[in-house]
Amino acid sequence: MSATLIDGKSLSTQLRAQLAERVSALSAAGIRPRLEVLVASQDPASLAYVRMKTKWAEAMGIESGTYSVGEATQQSELLEKIREWNADESVHGILIQHPLPSQLDESEALLELGAEKDVDGITPESLGRLVAGAPGFRCATPLGMMRMLDAYDIDCTGRTAVVIGRSVILGKPAALMLLERNATVTIAHSRTRDLPDLCRTADILVAAVGRPEFVKGDWLKPGVVVLDAGYNKVEGRATDVGDVEFETAAERASFLTPVPGGVGPMTVASLLANVVDAAEAHLRSEQERATASRS
Ligand code: NAP
Repeated sequence: MSATLIDGKSLSTQLRAQLAERVSALSAAGIRPRLEVLVASQDPASLAYVRMKTKWAEAMGIESGTYSVGEATQQSELLEKIREWNADESVHGILIQHPLPSQLDESEALLELGAEKDVDGITPESLGRLVAGAPGFRCATPLGMMRMLDAYDIDCTGRTAVVIGRSVILGKPAALMLLERNATVTIAHSRTRDLPDLCRTADILVAAVGRPEFVKGDWLKPGVVVLDAGYNKVEGRATDVGDVEFETAAERASFLTPVPGGVGPMTVASLLANVVDAAEAHLRSEQERATASRS
């Protein structure tokens, strides 16, 4: 293997240790960051992800709660819960764990959720801010990927990036974040022609497809940086499998994220970083209000 593995697990541990210090400072100022999560009660994978997020949050001193929605939940109840959290000053971040039960309209729920508490950066307003280059919360998975590039001093300027996948939570925001870093970006999807040839042009390749070992080593230019977002369950394999064929990619890439232990842990840490940012923003606005009322 020639690639350097980008160690998302240890980067995530470092980031969470820094966040825990910021949480202590907030608590000294009387604020405990709080994350609330909406999750489908009948989706075991979603419940498992949420359990990990809330476990890590609690370990850092972030309070977290979950509200389960099921097949009998009405849209009005979902919207009411989001309005309640929006109005509650002790809630700093709200996460709507995709997918919700099919009778519920996720787009309407995201519109109801204010950008101020959208710590997963997936509301239309947060995404609009990303397109506009304006401050706002960024989607946790691509944000985690950008942190990994920074941690390994990987400069994107002038480099060719190919992002496979165009989902709103991953492919599109990853492409925009790479563009912000001055990469020349192409987004590929299921209708893209000659994908292996396109991938061979990439200096930076993001795989966000959801198919195990979809990207083969011989699709890669020697020296490419590979960020693999995939985590796929495969029968007979003890751990999750990425969207990139690890063994062959490791022979060609200069840097590569492993699965597990790459993008996944940095996604969760980046989500929690957004919660801490939201709580700090709340504290600043409280302090400004107090100053204004004294003068
Ligand atoms: P998604 O919404 O299903 O999107 C998959 C994308 O892949 C789509 O844009 C699709 O194209 C494209 N695609 C599918 N088949 C293709 C093909 N044969 N050739 C080229 N493109 C193809 O999935 P997602 O939510 O973005 O997630 C992608 C992967 O990342 C999944 O494995 C998911 O589990 C993982 N994920 C990881 C994290 C993490 O924290 N590590 C977080 C979220 C997701 P079309 O648009 O044309 O259909």
